[in-house]
Amino acid sequence: MRCLMCGKEIGSSGNFSELLLEEDVLCHACRRRWIHRSGHTDLNGIRVDYDWDYDSDFSKCLIQYKECGDEALKEVFLYPLRKKLKRRYRGYTLVLMPSSHEKLEARGFVHLEGIFEGLGLPMLDPFEKCILEDQKQLNLKGRQAMAHGIRLKRDQALPKRIVLVDDVMTTGSTLRGALSVLDQSRYRIRIYTCAIVTKEKPVPEQGRKTGLFQ
Ligand SMILES: [Zn+2]
Repeated sequence: MRCLMCGKEIGSSGNFSELLLEEDVLCHACRRRWIHRSGHTDLNGIRVDYDWDYDSDFSKCLIQYKECGDEALKEVFLYPLRKKLKRRYRGYTLVLMPSSHEKLEARGFVHLEGIFEGLGLPMLDPFEKCILEDQKQLNLKGRQAMAHGIRLKRDQALPKRIVLVDDVMTTGSTLRGALSVLDQSRYRIRIYTCAIVTKEKPVPEQGRKTGLFQ
């Protein structure tokens, strides 16, 4: 199998660790430029889990996938983590964060669907971004619900156990917006974002462990 990023045959480098690491769609050389930083934080009292540091080759791949339309890269973000995530979120439905209509049209695909479909969990895309002009038509309650520029699509029902998922969390404003339009007493909510933006310095090469994805 060839690396989705550089095209080299995976395992051809003679690198022993490449053979030891769990199967991947990137070669060892490409994957080691991603900083694996599994952890969790909190957003409005809800646990947010994440796995990558955005400021590594994660961001390079994400831009190539999202903005350059390189759909073949959809698997690279979660491939080594899919078993762990599938186990963790069994019984939950993945709920995708919305992109703007302009971005969706420009891309021609729902990028989060591509990233998360490999987990084999049920998925919903129930939110949409809305523009300010729309809000003039609404009453006060509607305007409050749309304060973050996000709303539920019409007649959209959600299951009880949901994971709000996104590619990267920077300020968390989209996720906060989604939380603001959900009645949190009705759902069991978790949040997962592939990457997080941290201000810390990258972990030195020697400090990184193998067997990261167990
Ligand atoms: Zn490669």
